[in-house]
Amino acid sequence: MTGLEPGTGATPARDAADAAAAPPAEDPASFAGDADAFQRLWTPHRMVYIDGADKPTDAGEQRCPFCTVPRRSDVDGLVVARGALAYVVLNLYPYNPGHLMVVPYRHVAGYPELTTPEVAEIGSLTQGAMRVLRATSAPTGFNLGVNQGQTGGAGIAAHLHQHVVPRWGGDANFMPIVAGTKPLPQLLGATRDALAAAWAEHSGSDAVARPAGTET
Ligand SMILES: [Zn+2]
Repeated sequence: MTGLEPGTGATPARDAADAAAAPPAEDPASFAGDADAFQRLWTPHRMVYIDGADKPTDAGEQRCPFCTVPRRSDVDGLVVARGALAYVVLNLYPYNPGHLMVVPYRHVAGYPELTTPEVAEIGSLTQGAMRVLRATSAPTGFNLGVNQGQTGGAGIAAHLHQHVVPRWGGDANFMPIVAGTKPLPQLLGATRDALAAAWAEHSGSDAVARPAGTET
């Protein structure tokens, strides 16, 4: 014993007082289930995602957030950059800070239905997004991808969007696995401001008609 371990300062009298103050625990033997090695961290707030909060109730353009966002200001819509045929926006439900999406303005569900110029600009904006993320937050890896259709995992299947997720070593710790919770150290507005400010200098993309924040 070094005398530094937690609890070594407790006295029998204090332990007894703490025990007296604690509410009586129900005997777990009176409930169904087998005890195991896991702790449970209850996250009822996650139900808003599971229940599909903010998801459009139909596949039309009227309720589609990817059609609505470009009509908002860059700051309000969390838009990082706008091209001629597609734009770059922060994901409202990020896996990591700087989780971006590259989205065509056109309400189109399938990658094969994109026009050749749309494919080219989405690719170019994806490169720009990766360059800007490298310059601002030095990720050591990326996940790129399109979840095509609801079966493919798309949250909003009616409007195609390509994810750009920066990755760092050790970024996926135990929290998403045991708690269904992703800790995020930076708020969305601050992330958008930093990426939009870096876009003109670091994106290096010819497809960008104008950087974010310059609309009139
Ligand atoms: Zn749409």
